[in-house]
Amino acid sequence: MTTYNENNRPAAALNIVLFGPPGAGKGTVAKLVAEQKQLVHLSTGDMLRQEIQLGTAIGKEADRLIAQGHLVPDDVVVAMVRQVVARHMPCPGFIFDGFPRTTEQAAALDRIMADSRASITLMIALDVSEEEIIRRMLHRADVEGRPDDTIDVIRQRILTYHKKIKGTADYYKAQGKYYTVDSSITPANTLRQILQRIAEAPHHG
Ligand code: AMP
Repeated sequence: MTTYNENNRPAAALNIVLFGPPGAGKGTVAKLVAEQKQLVHLSTGDMLRQEIQLGTAIGKEADRLIAQGHLVPDDVVVAMVRQVVARHMPCPGFIFDGFPRTTEQAAALDRIMADSRASITLMIALDVSEEEIIRRMLHRADVEGRPDDTIDVIRQRILTYHKKIKGTADYYKAQGKYYTVDSSITPANTLRQILQRIAEAPHHG
């Protein structure tokens, strides 16, 4: 079913939340899904790194927290997401990469989507072993040199992920929108599984 906003134009009809531990390949996979389905790729991690580069007030606060493997406050990321969603509406849909990371953010995202007469179609959690995550992240640290890719920060980020994931996953489970996908093989393999889930998802217009 296609939904319409107040301008009688189609509102975002396929909206995916992509969730996964650091190093699961979220960014790569999100870009592939966005290309395939013509979705807007919205990564809060990328947005925060841009704020840091620009040296904004948000960037200064985020820099310290990200470097320690902690989350940035909900109100900061929610305000950024609200702005970007509004700027792109109407559009075929969004893939949210690394957002929401808390139940508060998930509830805020539902409100943001509802304001545009849209809703989240499904939430996909990428599944990969902790050993493989650490191996990938240390490799990425060599290649990209991200400041949050030291072994201690990686461990803190994985801890933060596990502390928060349950609540956020439960939020989407309660709505019947939660799916897991094995992301231990290749990005192309992960993409294939995600496209399959999308094809099977109810409420997708
Ligand atoms: P990512 O690139 O998605 O792994 O994000 C890198 C870091 O940015 C995370 O470890 C957090 O410190 C911060 N961050 C990104 N997205 C969020 C979010 N939705 N809520 C809070 N902090 C976030």
